[in-house]
Amino acid sequence: MPLPPFHFCPGLLGKAFGSRYFWFSSYVAANVLIDLEVLYYLSRNEPPFHRYLHTYLGGIAMGVVAGLLMFVVVQMVRRVLPADSRWGERLAQTPGRLLLWQSLLVGLIGGVSHILLDSLMHEEMNPFWPLAEGNALAGTVSVLALHIALAVIGFFGLIFWLLLRE
Ligand SMILES: [Zn+2]
Repeated sequence: MPLPPFHFCPGLLGKAFGSRYFWFSSYVAANVLIDLEVLYYLSRNEPPFHRYLHTYLGGIAMGVVAGLLMFVVVQMVRRVLPADSRWGERLAQTPGRLLLWQSLLVGLIGGVSHILLDSLMHEEMNPFWPLAEGNALAGTVSVLALHIALAVIGFFGLIFWLLLRE
C-alpha cells in the first residue's frame, strides 16, 4: 500500500473528468482486491506482504475481476431500480456491452495505477514478475512526497468532481 484511501485519490480526478463513464466503484474495487493480499499476509505475519497480486500481471487480473464484479452488481441494481429514476433511465439508455467495457477499462486503470504507486514505495515488490525480478522504482519518490501529491490530487479531484458533476 500507500494506504488504500490514497489510492482512491487519482480515481477522484478520473471521476471528475470521466463523469459517469468513469466507474469509480470498479476503480475502488480493483484497489481493494489487490490490497487484500497485504492484509492476508500481514494478518499471518508472513512477509513479504506484496506478492503476486502486487505485480502488473496481478493488477491487470484484479482489474478485470473488479470490472466484471461491478458490472454484475450494476446489472442487479438495474433490475431493482425504477425505470423512471435518473440512474435507471441512464442505464436503460446505455447498451450493456458499453457498460461492460467502461467497467473493465476503469477496473484496469485502478489495478495498474495501484501497482505503479505501490512500486514507488515497496522494495520487496517484483512488479514485472514473471518477466523480471526486482523493483527499480522503489525509493525514487519519498513516501511523504508521494502521499502529499496523492492528497493534493484527491483534493482537487473532489473539488472538480463536485463542480463538474451532472
Ligand atoms: Zn497495495
